[in-house]
Amino acid sequence: MPGVSEISTDIAIIGAGPAGLMAAERLSGRGFKVTVFDAMATPGRKFLMAGRGGLNLTHSEPLPKFIARYGGRSAQVASWLERFSPEDLRKWADGLGAETFVGSSGRVFPKAMKASGLLRNWLRRLDERGVVFHLRQRWTGFDGERLQFDGEIRSVAARATVLALGGASWPKLGSDAAWVPILEARGVDIRPFQPANSGFEITWSAHFRDRAAGQPLKNIALSLGGDPVPGEMVVTRHGIEGGAVYAISAALRDRLPAVLTLDLKPQMDVAALAARLAARRKGRSLSAWLTGELNLSPLAYSLLRETTDVVPDEAGALARLIKAVPLPVQRTRPIAEAISSAGGIGFDAVNGDLMLRAVPGIFVAGEMLDWEAPTGGYLLQGCLSAAVVAADGVLKRLGSEA
Ligand SMILES: Cc1cc2nc3c(=O)[nH]c(=O)nc-3n(C[C@H](O)[C@H](O)[C@H](O)COP(=O)(O)OP(=O)(O)OC[C@H]3O[C@@H](n4cnc5c(N)ncnc54)[C@H](O)[C@@H]3O)c2cc1C
Repeated sequence: MPGVSEISTDIAIIGAGPAGLMAAERLSGRGFKVTVFDAMATPGRKFLMAGRGGLNLTHSEPLPKFIARYGGRSAQVASWLERFSPEDLRKWADGLGAETFVGSSGRVFPKAMKASGLLRNWLRRLDERGVVFHLRQRWTGFDGERLQFDGEIRSVAARATVLALGGASWPKLGSDAAWVPILEARGVDIRPFQPANSGFEITWSAHFRDRAAGQPLKNIALSLGGDPVPGEMVVTRHGIEGGAVYAISAALRDRLPAVLTLDLKPQMDVAALAARLAARRKGRSLSAWLTGELNLSPLAYSLLRETTDVVPDEAGALARLIKAVPLPVQRTRPIAEAISSAGGIGFDAVNGDLMLRAVPGIFVAGEMLDWEAPTGGYLLQGCLSAAVVAADGVLKRLGSEA
């Protein structure tokens, strides 16, 4: 007779983040016993954190543009989005009482902006459908065909399993990537995790750092030789972060150390800017002119002074500097601070249903797979769509209609 620490279920889902919960929802109510396990004391810790600054669920832009956000993984993610599209995600959220709206940037948010109400209703729905949760149960590997845990539950027999263990950012919220050696030992190819949508380190002078840290530069553009990325950049004690920084972070990360080019006046070209600067009245201080007439923020002026020995007085040279402030970036901030991670289970290691080729019956979903995307709702969309694909793969394997 199995003891209390040994249980069996039809479908084990390990990881109660958005990917695991979506897999549980898709698999519940199909006549299978669905059991969710998580190492943390409560489900959806990172999802709740994502809601702190406004839960950006997905984006409203046309699908081809949306798909291109996944870079080298666009083709794979496109096949997930066919199964659960941004429109499907909005309907799903509406159905959970989290009616969505499109913000001015095209990003989609629940009207309440937070994740807590949506998560509460989601968990209630799963409970009503008979999904059982076992929290504070850390998955530690395999014991033959069984899943091993280190909590009160020691061993689980399941007909199919969905792993939705997350990536490697914000490990204190549960996604600590401790599962990597377990799957590597089974021959699963896993690319090293790296920070994505992260801040970067620049060595500021103590004077600038103390005055500027925490302040945003709005309506700027960043470039690395290619198309400029418009948005906002925040100066931090260690360097920079913010929307435009995150958007360029994948390209920047792969070229470090690198000099990033900051355009403080993306709305004007060099010639127009030089003409405005040439009209400066004699006797008017440069800082007063730049902030008063050109509407540059005091922070932008401080940054000019920080990054160059002498701010040029000549209009043409000054215009070129304002349009291309060099930012010498040394390294990324630690992955523990990043919004998401790149790396994870390689796509060659899974089939089209997201089942591990090396471990049949084990499906994977969410950020633990090797894809990345900028902020803008693409992360949650990717996680939820992948979960739908994995859950349908489980149904197929268990011989039920998806
Ligand atoms: C500050 C912040 C803001 C964000 N804002 C947004 C946003 O607005 N829009 C957006 O699209 N995305 C956002 N994201 C990213 C988004 O939250 C993640 O991409 C998403 O949560 C990943 O979902 P997941 O289910 O794959 O993994 P997670 O949400 O990381 O869930 C993984 C779960 O697995 C559990 N687990 C891990 N290992 C084990 C184990 N061995 N045994 C048992 N359980 C285990 C963890 O405890 C965790 O609960 C944000 C992230 C952060 C940090």
